[in-house]
Amino acid sequence: MSITFAAAIIATDIDVFRLTCESGEVLGEFVGHTNAYTEGDLHALICADTLCQQYGPEILPLPAAEGLDEVNMATDNALDVLAVLGLPGQHEGEIPAALLLDRIDTASAIGFDDAERPEGLAYGPLGVMTTAARRPGYLSERLAALRTLAHACATADRTVVWH
Ligand SMILES: [Zn+2]
Repeated sequence: MSITFAAAIIATDIDVFRLTCESGEVLGEFVGHTNAYTEGDLHALICADTLCQQYGPEILPLPAAEGLDEVNMATDNALDVLAVLGLPGQHEGEIPAALLLDRIDTASAIGFDDAERPEGLAYGPLGVMTTAARRPGYLSERLAALRTLAHACATADRTVVWH
């Protein structure tokens, strides 16, 4: 289980799709929704991977702008990051990039517990059981990655989504 933070997809993006076989092989990038799904159906007919035969390759729209790399983390860690940002318990959401930058700055200014968390069961800040271990400074690293994403999103005039 993990949560991914990413730039919201906007209309001009959805023209290009990347197809990835269930085996992990990137099959290519195709322009147009219909074209991409037709290519996916054709691939599924000839693929040796049984999952791919059944469900077809993964078809994802490509973000057009540069520097919008997704930030992914284990759900427990993501929920801790969200709590630090004043968004506790929100497994999914959307936020304007400028507002996210504000929240990151505020969290950094106020400070937060960023100690090591050993492997095994522990109680998180929300009082729930968690199993995600992490090294000291992990939350700060993730906030820095989110800051990079939020800056790129602000430049590209996009919101940041997570799910
Ligand atoms: Zn395949």
